[in-house]
Amino acid sequence: MKLKIENLAKRYGNFDALRPTSLDVPEGEFLTLLGPSGSGKTTLLTMIAGLSLPDSGDIYIDGKRATKEPAFNRDIGMVFQNYALFPHLSIAENVAFPLRMRRIPEGEIRQRVTTMLEMISLPHVADRVPRELSGGQQQRVALARAMVYRPSIVLMDEPLGALDKNLREQMQIEIKHLHKRLGTTIIYVTHDQEEAMAMSDRICLMNGGGVEQLSEPQEIYNRP
Ligand code: ADP
Ligand code: ADP
Repeated sequence: MKLKIENLAKRYGNFDALRPTSLDVPEGEFLTLLGPSGSGKTTLLTMIAGLSLPDSGDIYIDGKRATKEPAFNRDIGMVFQNYALFPHLSIAENVAFPLRMRRIPEGEIRQRVTTMLEMISLPHVADRVPRELSGGQQQRVALARAMVYRPSIVLMDEPLGALDKNLREQMQIEIKHLHKRLGTTIIYVTHDQEEAMAMSDRICLMNGGGVEQLSEPQEIYNRP
């Protein structure tokens, strides 16, 4: 079990942003949190990332209790809707960043950055800066940066939300390709049902701060 969540809950004042929620995510799974705005998806994701703390419950990553571990101690990569690339760093240096943080030797950084840039079909933009790239290209770079150190889990919060429909469909295929190639466990947030159906191994349907249903895409309409 790559990720195990037990009775995780979060309140803001009297408001239940996430009611007690339990979830098991096996290694290599592509799990999508699908639900309308305000259903608790981001609340759950930021607690898994370690960017906010639950009021109760526990998080286990690779069998180890991570509930109170700070974000940088969790073996987790993140991709956001707004890319969040470092504007003054080159593309190569953006992708290299998580490796530098972990003091990986220069030779290995060069090699891994090259491999990732090839994997996202952007080997020629290594020396450019983010603003010289299109939105779709920037999001590919964000994907490469999140996956370059082979984290155990990658969290994606509406990563394609800022892209137009054609590009979104193309990027869905590319993300699935990276997922297959690297075998990373992915937890993906979207409010787009089609996207969830196209990409997921399982879909976790959320509403009002709770899980309504957890099922494979083809079963999503067959409510119990
Ligand atoms: P989703 O990602 O599904 O759109 P969120 O997890 O962001 O939903 O939010 C769930 C609910 O919690 C929303 O009603 C939101 O307004 C509320 N919420 C989120 N963050 C805060 C906060 N920092 N303070 C107060 N309420 C919050
Ligand atoms: P500099 O040219 O000062 O090294 P770059 O931003 O071009 O700055 O490169 C930063 C780091 O990214 C390099 O030290 C290297 O590890 C890696 N890198 C740079 N260019 C490439 C490239 N074309 N292919 C693969 N890795 C690269």
